[in-house]
Amino acid sequence: MTEPTFPCPACGGPLQPEPNRDSMSCAYCGAAVSIPELLRWTKITTSKPVEKPRFDPFAAAHKAVTPELRQKTIQQNQRVADILRKVEPVANTAYRGYFWWVLLKGLMVPGVLLLVSICCVVTLVTGGVIWFLSSR
Ligand SMILES: [Zn+2]
Repeated sequence: MTEPTFPCPACGGPLQPEPNRDSMSCAYCGAAVSIPELLRWTKITTSKPVEKPRFDPFAAAHKAVTPELRQKTIQQNQRVADILRKVEPVANTAYRGYFWWVLLKGLMVPGVLLLVSICCVVTLVTGGVIWFLSSR
């Protein structure tokens, strides 16, 4: 928005009327100029405090990251990636071991019960057969 100007009556320079005043001195020739009534204006000052710029963590981080720091971070990430690559097979083995351990633990009680019942059935059948054969 362009502010209204009026020509200095002494030198013709374009003057911007200053707020809260009805006369001013020309910025070009220094003459005391009376501001035309139509262009007098009052600057409204509000008591609202100027809002501080909010802290932007991303902008701050971006500013804080120097090329050296970026390089260091890349190297550290590379190191972490290397460690993860080395650890991966170990972790996989450990997980497989854990999987089989849980499976076997779950099968232990039913397996023993099954074995006992098979033994009982075999004993009963064998006993029955022996009894049947000996009773003839
Ligand atoms: Zn002037």
